Amino acid sequence: MENLKLVAGLGKERSKIQVGNAVFGENLVIIAGPCSVESDDQIMETALAVKAAGADILRGGAFKPRTSPYAFQGLGLQGLKYLAKAGEATGLPVITEVLDTRDVSWVAEFAQMLQIGARNMQNFSLLKEVGKCQRPVLLKRGMYSTLEEWLNCAEYIMNEGNPQVVLCERGIRTFETYTRNTLDLSAVPAVKEISHLPVITDPTHGTGKVSLIKPMCLASVAAGADGITLEVHRNPPEALSDKDQALTHGEFDEIVKEVRLLERYMKEKKDALS
Ligand code: PEP
Ligand code: MN
Repeated sequence: MENLKLVAGLGKERSKIQVGNAVFGENLVIIAGPCSVESDDQIMETALAVKAAGADILRGGAFKPRTSPYAFQGLGLQGLKYLAKAGEATGLPVITEVLDTRDVSWVAEFAQMLQIGARNMQNFSLLKEVGKCQRPVLLKRGMYSTLEEWLNCAEYIMNEGNPQVVLCERGIRTFETYTRNTLDLSAVPAVKEISHLPVITDPTHGTGKVSLIKPMCLASVAAGADGITLEVHRNPPEALSDKDQALTHGEFDEIVKEVRLLERYMKEKKDALS
């Protein structure tokens, strides 16, 4: 791959990116929370639950990129306030998606990490704007994008002066219809071969099916992912977005336990072999 001047890994140390107490590239980082922030008590309840289960970062969308203009679009500023409050109450740093160049600087005041969603991966103006801010950025892979296109988008952000980029494989569109997307797990070791940037997976959007999330979390960790991001809701059937793929608090707790065990095993294996 040519022209990945900042993203390419050759001769560079692997990047470590800190968000609150979590360090991507050092420990397995678990991001969790609802697809959308829906109310003050909804985000607070889930924040407390994911914190107790062992999550590192709280997620919640305030600006939602929805397929239909009539679907819930997010609470905007009010949602950011609720999210920040839940983050402060639990001590968790928060991540939220930014959709528009005009919103980057003020959204960054409410969140410790910014998310660029799959639909905006190649929104070059937006990439340049988050490249100018000093917040770490989670760059999701576009659903129709090659690794080269994705990594070039990380290059756009870094080229503006922000080196804090974490990549997220969230599934790509294939001919398969059983799953919402096809989680491309080979992207994890492939990205690590090419780049020094941390890479995590999103088994929630990557499968769209609750029953498949845990196995794909474990497979992600086995493949070398630096973290996972998961959607969790206090009452999934009532979620205002992505209700079919939201984990309950109990399901999330169970996943964290197994994932942490596997994380420990992977570390011991690495130490034993080195
Ligand atoms: C999300 O994380 O809420 C989201 C919209 O994800 P994606 O951009 O991967 O579809
Ligand atoms: Mn979602």
